[in-house]
Amino acid sequence: MTWVTPHHPKIEELNACVQCGLCLPVCPTFRATGRETASPRGRLHAMRAVHDGVVPFDETFAGIIDLCLGCRACEPVCPGLVPYGRALEGARAEIVAQAPGRRGRRRRLVKAASSRRLMRAGGALLSLAQTLRLTGAAPKSLARLVSGARRLRGRPKPTVGHAGGPGREATLGLLTGCVQDEWFRPVNAAAVELLEMAGHRVEAPLAQVCCGALAAHDGRAAAACELAAVNTAAFASYDGVVATAAGCSAHLAEYSHWADGGARVASRAADVTKAVALAIRERRLPTLSGDRGPIAVQDPCHLRHAQRETWAPRLVLEAAGYEVVEVDEAGLCCGAAGLYAIAQPEMSETLGNQKADQIRSTGVMRTASANSGCEMQLRRHLTDDHEVAHPIEWYLGALREDQGR
Ligand code: SF4
Ligand code: SF4
Repeated sequence: MTWVTPHHPKIEELNACVQCGLCLPVCPTFRATGRETASPRGRLHAMRAVHDGVVPFDETFAGIIDLCLGCRACEPVCPGLVPYGRALEGARAEIVAQAPGRRGRRRRLVKAASSRRLMRAGGALLSLAQTLRLTGAAPKSLARLVSGARRLRGRPKPTVGHAGGPGREATLGLLTGCVQDEWFRPVNAAAVELLEMAGHRVEAPLAQVCCGALAAHDGRAAAACELAAVNTAAFASYDGVVATAAGCSAHLAEYSHWADGGARVASRAADVTKAVALAIRERRLPTLSGDRGPIAVQDPCHLRHAQRETWAPRLVLEAAGYEVVEVDEAGLCCGAAGLYAIAQPEMSETLGNQKADQIRSTGVMRTASANSGCEMQLRRHLTDDHEVAHPIEWYLGALREDQGR
């Protein structure tokens, strides 16, 4: 065995694969390339070969793992219940430990995400660059990443530190997120407004940090463990923990892997889309009348595949009076996948164009997406007059319209 970290893919995870190949048709990288080594089965086979010492841990292996989006579309269809996402994070932790040079710039970005001070400074810089139309002057990969960002000027104040609401229902801890509370503040503000309207007390404790998803997906296992430990302490006393980006809520739900006592947070974690949908279903938030026209729904992989949630965004949008238009029955990844656009720009571009084509073919000019990375990827690939926002923002906008606000 040539693994060097405790996070490596485990033999029981690899043995669970019965090589049936049912995962191949749903894997975006296999569909795009037709290569077995770009499929879930092929990647698991490569991990097994390294585990057994049949092949060395080398650049070829790292390349096979790096092309994976981590979208986890392979998990729901797998009869062996292979915990592919866990094994992948283990393989990536090995790459960071054994081939650290492969991830230089991403290391700095992952580190920046864990510092509120750096994220705040980055948000101010991006806002200025947008105003001066200088975002294109950033290094190419960074320019690609920020080109789909929302306009930051005039955004609401940060949500972290907020505490309020009637508290008739459960008291919820809000994970404000690293990128989310800088670049997507309206989503956090909408979450606070709607959850408080639904009777909750909402607190966004200052002691929280980035959830650690970016670090975990990039193989920075030690950093992911540290961040999960801080958040486990910060959110331990809440009845529920809500995150406003699907990538974050999916990661919180797996905290038992990342921190001692993390299971307590994991078992209470929910995506805000689900929390709002439940409040609508329980009539703590209204179902609105009126016809607001069609809206396309894009399922973030970490909501659809990792958390197996597809009903919540649809219920929220329909309760707002929209006619939900499906764009992709297979739920293929849009190619955003955290920092994938930097690491694998060609595949990210291919998948982004494919998703944009699917949306364009519906003729609809509004899209709902419950994940910040997906939202930016869609905005990058669609025209400026196509509106993209979180399902709860579409709902809150309709509610305000109804109330004449
Ligand atoms: S579906 Fe599951 S068991 Fe079948 S090849 Fe894929 S990973 Fe292995
Ligand atoms: S996580 Fe996504 S890209 Fe990676 S093997 Fe599974 S389906 Fe393919």
